[in-house]
Amino acid sequence: MKAVRVNEYGGPEALCYEEVEMPTPGSNEVLIKVAAAGVNYIDTYQRSGLYQVPLPTTLGLEAAGTVEKIGDSVSKYRIGDRVAYTSVAGAYAEYASVPEEKLVSLSDGVSFNEGAAAMLQGCTAHYLCKSTYHVKQGDSCLIHAAAGGVGLLLIQMVKNAGGHVIGTVSTEEKAELAKEAGADEVILYSKDDFEAEVSRITAGDGVNVVYDSVGKSTFEKSINCLSRLGYMVLYGNASGPVTEFNPATLGPKGSLFLTRPTLFDYTADRASLEWRSGDVFDWIAKDELKLRIEHFYSLSDAQEAHRDLEARKTTGKIILTP
Ligand code: NDP
Repeated sequence: MKAVRVNEYGGPEALCYEEVEMPTPGSNEVLIKVAAAGVNYIDTYQRSGLYQVPLPTTLGLEAAGTVEKIGDSVSKYRIGDRVAYTSVAGAYAEYASVPEEKLVSLSDGVSFNEGAAAMLQGCTAHYLCKSTYHVKQGDSCLIHAAAGGVGLLLIQMVKNAGGHVIGTVSTEEKAELAKEAGADEVILYSKDDFEAEVSRITAGDGVNVVYDSVGKSTFEKSINCLSRLGYMVLYGNASGPVTEFNPATLGPKGSLFLTRPTLFDYTADRASLEWRSGDVFDWIAKDELKLRIEHFYSLSDAQEAHRDLEARKTTGKIILTP
């Protein structure tokens, strides 16, 4: 079968579209014929070596497809079932072997593209606003990279929970998308000082929570945007990792909270995965959550997908099709 592998860490050119052996499902695993694989920013960290994974590796942490084979002790799924999953390596491929406890069923109304678009970024947005900081009616939230994959979903979930959203984006086109998704205010952080803008918008009060996936270039100012007892949720490093921070500064700035959450921990048990993915698919079915699947690439063009994502050319979800 064909797969996209990383043999050595590097830029997009490190993605090798090559012939590899078909995976054999273990006794608790299911072999999936991948119909759509999701591209996520974390894939670029694993490719570059910012997040170290054992090499060689088949990249990709999210896909949807059809059950092709099942291991001996698999009980919940049968050949031909439509499924999706996240947090298992190897999705940039024609086939992937996945433990059954990581799979969720796709109902007939949900396409493979939607399944692959909803799992990783949808469950991330869910845990960020339902668990890491539980957004309540009237809370004010600053969401960076608001027109990105996670950003557009998080805006909608925060608005549905009664929150007030200030989004940041780099272009006017992205600002329009963030507004369409429900953002109350959008700041062009490529042009304007977002710290000053948040202070102006909130009349100096600051926001209850900052969802910061940009990292290095936004972290310090994000902390200055918080109100007393505010939550700094640093969940990504699109501009580079935050490497230096003095926790003592959280005190005088208002007894702030700082956390660095990961999807893995918030979906570690089956109940959490079912709760989060169940809500996400339910909201999609009720039209309370809209997916923006904007960019499709064939599996052999994974390099181009990564180049566009890292050049900030994409909005919403990117899908690879085997
Ligand atoms: P996005 O679609 O949001 O793409 C990243 C966006 O980051 C860009 O479009 C760009 O938006 C913004 N950005 C700001 N600075 C830079 C920079 N220097 N280089 C590149 N992009 C930049 O990606 P995802 O939705 O897949 O992921 C968003 C973030 O969330 C990532 O940091 C990812 O690692 C993180 N994440 C964390 C998870 C967790 O559990 N901790 C789970 C899922 C995602 P703009 O042009 O508007 O600035």
